Order: sequence, then C-alpha cells, then structure tokens
Amino acid sequence: MSKASNAELPRAVDPYRLAEQNTVLEGDIPLIGLPRFREVVFGFDDGAVCRVRLSFTMDSQRRRIVSGELQVPVDLECQRCMNPMRETLTSDFTLGLVTSDEQAQQLPKELEPFLTDDFSADLWSMCEDELLLVLPPFPLHERNACPAREDLEAYEPESEPAKPETPSGENPFSVLAGLKTK
Ligand SMILES: [Zn+2]
Repeated sequence: MSKASNAELPRAVDPYRLAEQNTVLEGDIPLIGLPRFREVVFGFDDGAVCRVRLSFTMDSQRRRIVSGELQVPVDLECQRCMNPMRETLTSDFTLGLVTSDEQAQQLPKELEPFLTDDFSADLWSMCEDELLLVLPPFPLHERNACPAREDLEAYEPESEPAKPETPSGENPFSVLAGLKTK
C-alpha cells in the first residue's frame, strides 16, 4: 500500500461534456476530503485515498452515463469487540445523469439517477455517496481473528455439551424405533 499516489481526481467537472467525449478519469480522492465518509469509519491511514476510475459515456438512447469503480482501505469498528478491523471497500456503480426528477423517473431501472443542478457535478461527493452505500452495516472480524471470540464462545459453545443421561441409559428414540419395527 506504499505505492506512490496517483493524481488527484478532479472535483468539479461538466459530466455531460465528459460523456459526449467518452472520457475516462482516473485518480485519487484523499479521504480527508470526504467528511461524511470520514465520520462513519473508525479510521484510516494518514494520507489514505480512495482510488477512483470513472468512465463517462453516452448510450444508444443518448443518455449520459457514468460508471465508476472505487477502492478504499479503511478501518471499521467490529461490532463484536469494538476494535478496528481493516477492510478494503470496493464499489461498482452505473449512474444516469439527470437534471430533474422527471428525467430521473424516465431512466431504466438498472440506472441509478445522478442528479446535477446544472452542467457541473461534484465528483468527490458523488463517490462519497457510493462509498456510504457499500459500507457494511454490521462489520465483524472473522470469528477466529476477533479478540472477543472467547467471550462469544462462552455463550455459544462450539462443542456439543454432554447430553444428560436418560434414566435407563438408553436413547429414547432408539426405543421408539424398536417399537415401530414390531
Ligand atoms: Zn472483533
């Protein structure tokens, strides 16, 4: 993860023009630039970035589309032990650019609308929305990696507890099975 960082992803763009020109944008967004995301994660490395690849296209209906791939390493809070756990969040999304709710309703259902007031969009905020969508609601360490696993095992033992002996020492079900064959 100590790779030299890419260029920063441009923030304010005209997404319509980019779509008409079939543009691909690649770059990083520093996580300190994503205040809503920053607030909901446990933490991240100094200088951590979200890697972003966005491609702007027009489909056969001349709809303007932006598809994106995001990747970001962050620490989430394990909901069992409340310690940080490292996770790489990824997101793949396809959005249809619209300027009104009316247009948004006309999009086919495989396209989520991306509403922009005018011909400018805040790409950082758009990516931040997508990251918030892929955030796991209930992050948990792998069971064996979780410091709280011993507490947990006290409540749900993995090995079957010894069964109480039946008075006769026989399994009552085998008695029943024996009756049936008579
Ligand atoms: Zn844990």
